[in-house]
Amino acid sequence: MIYGEKNVEKPIRWAMVGGGKGSQIGYIHRSAALRDHNFQLVAGAFDINPERGRDFGVNLHVDPERCYPDYKTMFAEEAKREDGIQAVSIATPNGTHYEITKAALTAGMHVVCEKPLCFTTEEAEELEALAKEKNRIVGITYGYAGHQMIEQARQMIANGDLGEIRIVKMQFAHGFHSAAVEEGNASTKWRVDPKVAGPSYVLGDVGTHPLFLSEVMLPNFKIKKLMCSCQSFVKSRAPLEDNAFTIMEYENGAMGTVWSSCVNAGSMHGHSIRVVGGKASIEWDDERPNQLRYEVQGQPAQILDRGMDYNYPEALTADRIGAGHAEGLFEGWSNLYTRFALAMDAADRGETLENLWYPDIHAGVEGVRWVENCVRSADNGAVWVDYK
Ligand code: NAD
Repeated sequence: MIYGEKNVEKPIRWAMVGGGKGSQIGYIHRSAALRDHNFQLVAGAFDINPERGRDFGVNLHVDPERCYPDYKTMFAEEAKREDGIQAVSIATPNGTHYEITKAALTAGMHVVCEKPLCFTTEEAEELEALAKEKNRIVGITYGYAGHQMIEQARQMIANGDLGEIRIVKMQFAHGFHSAAVEEGNASTKWRVDPKVAGPSYVLGDVGTHPLFLSEVMLPNFKIKKLMCSCQSFVKSRAPLEDNAFTIMEYENGAMGTVWSSCVNAGSMHGHSIRVVGGKASIEWDDERPNQLRYEVQGQPAQILDRGMDYNYPEALTADRIGAGHAEGLFEGWSNLYTRFALAMDAADRGETLENLWYPDIHAGVEGVRWVENCVRSADNGAVWVDYK
């Protein structure tokens, strides 16, 4: 149970790049980082427009002198201060993540980076090596992984409650972009521009979320080969896809599928993961995040609820309010930001917390690798490709 007591000796001095006024994801970063007093927002380069960014920073109670016009100025100026920033969150469009993460690590900061970490596996591995060399933490905001029932699923699978795992069925298929909404929406416009979004749209934007959930639930599963078929149902989005089906074969013979889409008309998030074992299956749906469906072959289906004592103790540690009350994405993200803070704090002391999992830089690398393999398959006519 979380009571809001301190996790780190002193709040980590923290800044944001991006996440400015009007951005989709900036507020939940701040809300999650500040919720448990792990971080203190002391600086920022919040916006591509420096004036707007400064005004916004001031409205967030950031010292006007520490509202910077761009990240390069911020890193240079903060390095001169004794109380300079120790960590930075990057919530800018995809095409900037690589250079900003690299600059932050080089300047000796811990990083929380939005997904995708970058565009190519080569770049991602370079960042992973740099983080290791500098002994800095990089967290990736696969925020749904912070929900308690994801931990419950991980524990159930590890304890053999489902039997041997055979099938992992994943999807993140919403309907918000069924029409060419990007024509009137800046946040969507860059998502369909390969120069800013990278080599894919929905695979990277949404498909990597359930993929990471599968990595949390099945940490030992390795993809052996995959096949991916991509479509641009809104033609102007080509060459980027707005729908993709991926089939994966794991090294242990299990099979997985991911439906990534933004044209699933009528669907809100359509984000779920079903893990099928020899004895039983579980299913988690992001629109009912406090519950996990547990279906044992030959028995009536059960709904497990967050916060109840029948869950594994590991799933109860992140409980904030007790069963019955709704927790949601903001709590899930707060749980992840707490883990980021614990990892950063330990790294600063020269320690590693062995039992602490969180979406780390390796998860960032794996997300980029998956997208790259999917695109390679799709570009070659939706053929099976060995996973590289
Ligand atoms: P957005 O277009 O709504 O906002 C981007 C913000 O970054 C704006 O405030 C913009 O002014 C600012 N910005 C752009 N370039 C900048 C730069 N060089 N320096 C400083 N600020 C800059 O985008 P968004 O939807 O908030 O997405 C941002 C990132 O977050 C993307 O990588 C996206 O994939 C990711 N995202 C993740 C999730 C998640 O669940 N983890 C959800 C949505 C978006």
